[in-house]
Amino acid sequence: MRKKIEPGASEKASVVAVKPPKAPKAPREKASTLAEEVQETLADLIVSGALKPGARLDEAALAARFQISRTPLREAFKGLAGSGLVEMRGQRGAFVAVISLPVLIEMFQIMSVMEGLCAKHAARRATAVQRAQLREIHDRLTEVLSSDHEQFYEVNREFHDALYAASNTTYLAEQTRALRRRVSIYRRHVTFQPGRMAATIGEHLAIIDAIERFDAEAAFATAADHVNLLQDDMVDLIAAISANHSDNT
Ligand SMILES: [Zn+2]
Repeated sequence: MRKKIEPGASEKASVVAVKPPKAPKAPREKASTLAEEVQETLADLIVSGALKPGARLDEAALAARFQISRTPLREAFKGLAGSGLVEMRGQRGAFVAVISLPVLIEMFQIMSVMEGLCAKHAARRATAVQRAQLREIHDRLTEVLSSDHEQFYEVNREFHDALYAASNTTYLAEQTRALRRRVSIYRRHVTFQPGRMAATIGEHLAIIDAIERFDAEAAFATAADHVNLLQDDMVDLIAAISANHSDNT
């Protein structure tokens, strides 16, 4: 009997000793909030390409890095698996999802149509404030064209977010954002081609012009074309993916 109590007692003591003072026993609610925070952080690392497709998410290393236990981390993995960013491979654990090329091409095709639909709705529904906002972001994007890639990527993302908001839709805007996020790891490679960055400016301008003219059809066509990966862009993407995947063998 004594022997049964002792390990329990010493285990408790060691937990108290090892845990940092500012990590109290989290109630259920707090634990899920922590999991959500970790999920957000991991999603950012995946979307930004810091964690590459196919990379293993080492539970022990990540728990140590975030200074959390494995429970919220596993919850975060589940959430990420639900949004398609992470793949659970049974005993082997969690991995950054790898999207196969045929599926990725499909995703870009759908993305193109959704982007077009957002612009089409924006041409019909955008408020004067929303139209002015698109212009304002566009001016900033033009300014950062010659500066660093990160800034260009960020402002470009802001433009597309504003476009989805200007569509004044709920489901469409939400789904477009979600899909964009999912393909963004791959999209980055194309966005950063110098020629692509310059072309983006003109293409965004055509979208804005169509929206300002209330021309829904032109808004659809210009936005869909802008996101569609044609010929050279597709070749760039395929080359980038091959390089990306061989990085993490
Ligand atoms: Zn764009």
